[in-house]
Formats: sequence, C-alpha cells, structure tokens
Amino acid sequence: MSVLVYIETPGGKIKKSGFEAMYYGAKTAEMLKTTCIGLIIGESEASNQLGKYGATRVVQVPHKGDFDAQIFADIIYKSAIAQNSSVVILSHTADGKCLTGRIAVKMNCGLVSAACGLPEMRSQLCIPKMVFSGKAKAWYNILTDKAVISVSGNSIQPQIIGQDVTPEISNLEIADSKIKVISRKTVEGIVPLPEAELVVSAGRGMKGPENWNIVEELAKSLGATTACSRPVADTGWRPHHEHVGQTGVAIKPNLYIAIGISGAIQHLAGVNNSKTIVVINKDPEAPFFKAADYGIVGDLFEVVPKLTTAVNKFKQGH
Ligand code: FAD
Repeated sequence: MSVLVYIETPGGKIKKSGFEAMYYGAKTAEMLKTTCIGLIIGESEASNQLGKYGATRVVQVPHKGDFDAQIFADIIYKSAIAQNSSVVILSHTADGKCLTGRIAVKMNCGLVSAACGLPEMRSQLCIPKMVFSGKAKAWYNILTDKAVISVSGNSIQPQIIGQDVTPEISNLEIADSKIKVISRKTVEGIVPLPEAELVVSAGRGMKGPENWNIVEELAKSLGATTACSRPVADTGWRPHHEHVGQTGVAIKPNLYIAIGISGAIQHLAGVNNSKTIVVINKDPEAPFFKAADYGIVGDLFEVVPKLTTAVNKFKQGH
C-alpha cells in the first residue's frame, strides 16, 4: 500500500501547488504508516526535489505531448495500480479538476476535491473541505478502501522533511492522444492568481475600465497580481481570468487589497482565506469591512494613488 501524488510540471517546472500536494501526500502517508510516491508525467529538472517534501520515491513517466485529461488520467490510474497505491493525491488546479473525477471512476472509489486540510483516520478516512461559500468546514468520510483527493492551494505550508531522490523512469505504455492542440495562448509576465502572494483587486466602484491604471500602478509597485469582482468581468471591464469569488478563482494570498468592492458573500467566498485583507471603500457600512484586517474609508480615486506613492517611497528607502 502507498500514497501516490501526481505532480504537475508545466514547462518542466514544479509550481508551489505541486510541492504542497507532495507534502500533503507525505503527511497523509505518515498518518497511514505507509510510503509516499511522487509521480511526474513528462520531464522536470526539479523532480528530485520532491524528496525534500516527503517523497520516498519519484516515478517519472516519459511523455512528450500536451496535457490530455484522458491520457493523463489513464497514466495516473495505471501508476496507482503499479505502485499499489490506495490513495491518489493531486493539486486542485485546472488540470487537477479535469483529472480527479476520471481517476476516481477508474479506481471505483470516493473522491474529495478541494481538501482544505490534512485527512484524519477515524473509522474511515476523513477529509476536511470548506462548504457554504467558505463559511463552514465539513468532514467527508471516504467509504471505499481507495480514495482520490485534490488539495486546495495554500491549504498546507510545505516543509522540508527529506532529501533529494533520483527519479525512476517508468516503462508504462501510453495510449495515443485523440486530441490535437492547434494553438496555445498563455498569460505571461505575472504570477497566476491561484499562486499569487500579493493581489490588488477592484470592483464596480472603479466606475469604468478607463480608470484601471491606478489599480495597475499600485499592483506594479507592490509586484502584485490584479483581480476583480464578478460584475467587472461580466461587463467586460476586465478579463474573466481575473474574476475572484465563489464562481471565479479562489485565492489565498498573503495580502489582498480590495478597492471599491462591496464584499458580497459570493466575493468573500473566494478571498476570505487571504492572510491579510485591506479594504478601500467610501461607504463605512460596506460589508467588506467586517472581513478586513485594515480598512480605509475614503474615495478610492484619492486613496489608491496616495497608497502607490507611499509604497514607492517606502521601496526607495529600503
Ligand atoms: P458593488 O456591489 O456595486 O460595490 C461597489 C462598491 O464600491 C460599493 O461598496 C461602493 O461603496 C464602493 N465605491 C463606489 N465608489 C467608490 C469610490 N469612489 N471610492 C471607494 N469606494 C467606492 N461576485 C464576485 O465578485 N465573485 C463571484 O464569484 C460572484 N459569484 C456570484 C455567484 C452568484 C450565484 C451570485 C448571485 C452573485 C455572485 N457575485 C459574485 C456577485 C456578488 O453578489 C456581487 O454582486 C458583486 O461581488 C458586487 O461587485 P462589486 O463589489 O464590484 O460591486
């Protein structure tokens, strides 16, 4: 018996979410008194580092093509059989969301997606997950012998608990992909929202897309990623990938600055796990202030440029 952790390697790199999943798998394996195996599909120069985050072994399945959920789910499933793994762990990323259901069906077992903490062994394996738009935590019992878990970003702080390991090359047979990628467009130059430590976000209080330069300037001076509320994305003021909340991206940065956002429950659902929340709103009754660590009551068109100047001044002095 073992715990198998699939690690995504976009562009040959391992993202923070990959090390989180690895460490989560290692702690799960420790609890189950078994070993933890990291699985890589394709190549990554960082694969031996997985040992530092608790992988006893790392298995690398050579693969040249693009991500294909059917092929990858098949590889992970076959690897789980080959490694005698009863628990399969993935990151709760876009790719992870495509894979978990497929793997759980193949393994004929229970699935908990977006786990927010480590599992516990009660009478069965129990896994915590946020529910009711982040207002409550529920524990899910897995009733089958095997389990698939996807780990929500920033749910666990990965720690170094081991040493580098040399990956073993797997000779698993891989089926041909039925999908042909014609073109690929990626957002470049910024930290993607799910991984961003600093986020500057704005809402309808901005009045229109033409005013976003003040948000972008603040984000630039902080080195932050920009985000927005849903109506802002819906009306086309900002791209949809910036929309955070219940129906958008769920984030957990160290700092979330909310500018001209009322703080509706659906918005808070995606951001209220941020470590520090700063709210700028002209309405002192705005609900967001209840969730804020720091609040500035004022006109954003005055406050935000002043904040940017203050940040730049601070940076010059340090
Ligand atoms: P508003 O509610 O219009 O708030 C604008 C704020 O700006 C106000 O608080 C106002 O005081 C302030 N303001 C105005 N002018 C200034 C100024 N000059 N200076 C300072 N402050 C100013 N929303 C999301 O964001 N994410 C989601 O994922 C999401 N999912 C949803 C799912 C469902 C099923 C439903 C029904 C709704 C969802 N919503 C979501 C919408 C949500 O309910 C709110 O309508 C939305 O978050 C409001 O966006 P907002 O705060 O930008 O705008």
